[in-house]
Amino acid sequence: MDFTVSEKMKTILGMIREFVDKELIPLEPEFLKKSMKEMEPVIEEKRRMVREMELWAPLHPEELGGMGLSLTEYALVAEALGYTWLGLYVFGCQAPDAGNIEILHKYGEPWQKERWLKPLVDGRIRSCFSMTEVDLPGSNPTWMETTAVKDGNEWVINGHKWFTSSADGAEVAIVMAVTNPGAGPYLQASMILVPTNTPGFNLVRNVPVMGHTGDQWHSHAEILYQNCRVPVENLLGPEGHGFVIAQDRLGPGRIHHAMRWIGIANRCFDLMCARALTRPITPDKHLADMQITRTWIAECAAEIQAARLMILHAAWTIETKGVKEAREEVSLIKFYTAGVLQRVMDKALQVHGGLGMTDDTPIASFFRGERAARIYDGADEVHKLSVAKRILREYQGRRIR
Ligand SMILES: Cc1cc2nc3c(=O)[nH]c(=O)nc-3n(C[C@H](O)[C@H](O)[C@H](O)COP(=O)(O)OP(=O)(O)OC[C@H]3O[C@@H](n4cnc5c(N)ncnc54)[C@H](O)[C@@H]3O)c2cc1C
Repeated sequence: MDFTVSEKMKTILGMIREFVDKELIPLEPEFLKKSMKEMEPVIEEKRRMVREMELWAPLHPEELGGMGLSLTEYALVAEALGYTWLGLYVFGCQAPDAGNIEILHKYGEPWQKERWLKPLVDGRIRSCFSMTEVDLPGSNPTWMETTAVKDGNEWVINGHKWFTSSADGAEVAIVMAVTNPGAGPYLQASMILVPTNTPGFNLVRNVPVMGHTGDQWHSHAEILYQNCRVPVENLLGPEGHGFVIAQDRLGPGRIHHAMRWIGIANRCFDLMCARALTRPITPDKHLADMQITRTWIAECAAEIQAARLMILHAAWTIETKGVKEAREEVSLIKFYTAGVLQRVMDKALQVHGGLGMTDDTPIASFFRGERAARIYDGADEVHKLSVAKRILREYQGRRIR
């Protein structure tokens, strides 16, 4: 694998870093105090500037109005944008829209693309992905109670979901529901496009996450689907192929998340080093003079570097060999990077002492928002189990001396 960054990418990354520094980091104190609704005008202004710079939607195909970067190129962008909370959102590449755009592009019917894909890429509407259920384990997603039953020309959806991120104010939800209960476990569920103004789509609440309820894009909703009827044409992809399509969404999606986490880790690391150098601990010594602080800095630097290279390797594997061949690499980076992020955030917070617990730096908000990295898109334990299972399979019957 060649790690050289092309001249084109150097220019793009330089522009993005400058924009993040000048336009987005100064917005953070306001972002941490206000709702997304209140932030909307200023965010729209920044999005306009990004479009003018021709940096809008870096990961989406050119024919849809994006920049058409490759996965490894976009990984570098996600790292630069992850440095601040609003980065991905202002550049039009935020989850869950990014993943939904990918599957709509690949599996959507022409009319579905016309109605939802183009406005999503343009940033005119938002979407959400509604899979995890309240009463059943998200870690075992084939076990699902939400059903979609055909009644004439309509699907009738019933179920109780939660953690449907960004449902508040979204135009459309991609809902996973059991349509073929008699089929094998991986062929029972389908994806169905549900406009959020459909009767029976009931957003119960935005679920508070570590004290933060949020709104709009920055929220996680509990949703009751109660006899929610949509036309049969709203099926996305073939019937019973929900999990097949979900696999497509999750491979590259985990690269996007993991590189964004590296961006957050970089930010916390920078803040930690700056604080260590300037915080006196005795009249003639700073935190940076303490051996323990230096050890933490070195350990964090090594962990960030290791995770970053693993992610770039996983992205390269997806690009060169496909999502299926990269399954192990993707699982490795999912739990490893989430762990690195948590350890780096924790050390950075510790170095800041009481200040680290406040919202006067972004560290506490990153901690609050990203503890979940070890849970969403597959909990650590699930990824570790599947990696170990595959590794052990290779050792079966082998004589090791
Ligand atoms: C901030 C956030 C955003 C999210 N966004 C979305 C979204 O947009 N759409 C959506 O559909 N879902 C979303 N989710 C849900 C997420 O995908 C699930 O929380 C995740 O899949 C885990 O499912 P669960 O919460 O039901 O935990 P459970 O499945 O109940 O698991 C609980 C814990 O058990 C352990 N565990 C599970 N399986 C095993 C095993 N086999 N062996 C050993 N230990 C195990 C793990 O430690 C796990 O954390 C989000 C979650 C969070 C926290």
